[in-house]
Amino acid sequence: MQGLMQDQQLLISSLIEFANRFHGDAEIVSRRVEGDIHRYTYRDLTARAKQLANALDGLKLAHGDRVASLAWNGYRHMEMYYGVSGSGRVLHTINPRLHPEQIAWIVNHAEDQVLCFDTTFLPLIQAVHAKCPTVRQWVALCDADKLPTDSGIPGLVSYEAWIAGQSKNYRWPQLDENTASSMCYTSGTTGNPKAVLYSHRSSVLHAYGAALPDVMNLSARDAVLPVVPMFHVNAWGLPYSAALTGAKVVFPGPALDGKSLYDLIEAEGVTFAAGVPTVWQMLLTHMQQGGLKFSHLNRTVIGGSACPPAMIDTFEDTYGVRVLHAWGMTEMSPLGTLGTLKNKHLALPKEQQRKILQKQGRPIYGVDMRIVDSDGRDQPWDGKACGDLLVRGPWILDTYYKGASPLVKDEEGRGWFPTGDVATIDPDGYMQITDRTKDVIKSGGEWISSIDIENIAMGHPAVAMAACIGMPHPKWDERPIVAVAKKAGAEVSREELLAFFDGKTAKWQIPDDVVFVDAIPLGATGKMLKTKLREQLAGYKLPGL
Ligand code: ADP
Repeated sequence: MQGLMQDQQLLISSLIEFANRFHGDAEIVSRRVEGDIHRYTYRDLTARAKQLANALDGLKLAHGDRVASLAWNGYRHMEMYYGVSGSGRVLHTINPRLHPEQIAWIVNHAEDQVLCFDTTFLPLIQAVHAKCPTVRQWVALCDADKLPTDSGIPGLVSYEAWIAGQSKNYRWPQLDENTASSMCYTSGTTGNPKAVLYSHRSSVLHAYGAALPDVMNLSARDAVLPVVPMFHVNAWGLPYSAALTGAKVVFPGPALDGKSLYDLIEAEGVTFAAGVPTVWQMLLTHMQQGGLKFSHLNRTVIGGSACPPAMIDTFEDTYGVRVLHAWGMTEMSPLGTLGTLKNKHLALPKEQQRKILQKQGRPIYGVDMRIVDSDGRDQPWDGKACGDLLVRGPWILDTYYKGASPLVKDEEGRGWFPTGDVATIDPDGYMQITDRTKDVIKSGGEWISSIDIENIAMGHPAVAMAACIGMPHPKWDERPIVAVAKKAGAEVSREELLAFFDGKTAKWQIPDDVVFVDAIPLGATGKMLKTKLREQLAGYKLPGL
């Protein structure tokens, strides 16, 4: 027997229509590339997203055609989120920090037909446009009078001139909810990037999941600052879940330094912020130097790479900001787990609560997970045994666009996505990442977690960033060393740092050496690039060898 309820498809256009009707005057505030602050409402955003949809119709773009963005976090980018996907096209958000060759490769692979870019990226577009024959309309995300002259880019128009004459009325198509809505390429630290193609259904379900109280707890009382870029897995879905809840949105534009972020947080009464640890490190340094405090910020979601426990302590103890440690992947839209306590933990002493919150958290409804050994056998959930982490759920990848399905089947024939992460799960379902599979250090048949070693090193007050890698060893296979970038003006010796590990981890896990570097190389999404670090340390020999 079928249920007798209304059959409504889950569409991205419904999110912005909801915000328009019930939170029409809630604000969207953006720091623009020009440096000034722009301010308008969901009502304005909806009208302009419709103008954009009409402009795309004007180009005779079919449903499913790809429209690319190369842009910072800002209101025009958010209009693209709704105008492009809502009208049945696929929004392809490109990471501008990738190598130009890789960007050209991605544009061709996606067969983008329209590419809209912030004027900051003009030199990049000038370098790649001739290699992107599928693009038939280049759009600069700027006012008509700011359109670069003599750019050499054929047919370049300004976004404002392009949408200006268009009607603010548009009937969003009633698509099948499994229609593709947007796409994002993995950062591809090895080989060519792979394309993840999200659907309306996966994006809306993810937006619901992300807003839940045990996840980001978003509401119409929040002012949300997505520092995580809109080209990095849809800013973790925030442009969608903000509309779903009617939250005020504050976009930082290109200004991601500590001072700019702090000033924006204070000026706009930001209550909730989201970003990777490296960004927060800059913010905290700025605040510590100036003896500053937050007046409204009460929680921040940190993910993308492991959040050092010392950062959680500083946010909570010095600034009264709750850290929500989250884990996810491009292939997961991205949210998989997030750390919040359960009722039974409330009476625990603070140190024990902190231990739980340092982990990557527990699954959000919609995500299931397992850890398995190399033969695919399930490992116990005892918080100690580690295994390869597999996940499944309605917002998790099945097959790469123009690629293969990486899923592995269980005995019931259900497909699980292999994350490439190694993790433990405790009896309460809290997951802790110990490593990327390729970063695991194997010493004498035992595994050493590079993240554990990095977390300890970053607990030292002189350490700005630490990266632990394995080095070949004739007896033990590999031994860990830790590369350390010191905080400006801070001093610590190799011996002091090695002594700092005493009592914090098993003796055999303590690194054999500390190598001081000017900076730890970071990839396009702000994560440590261990491959690059290994290249930099070519020729390095462990002490005593
Ligand atoms: P890519 O896989 O291309 O680097 P993603 O943004 O999809 O880009 O990265 C996902 C990976 O980032 C995860 O598989 C995991 O290794 C790492 N990661 C994400 N969040 C965390 C976290 N909170 N702690 C540790 N690692 C994390």
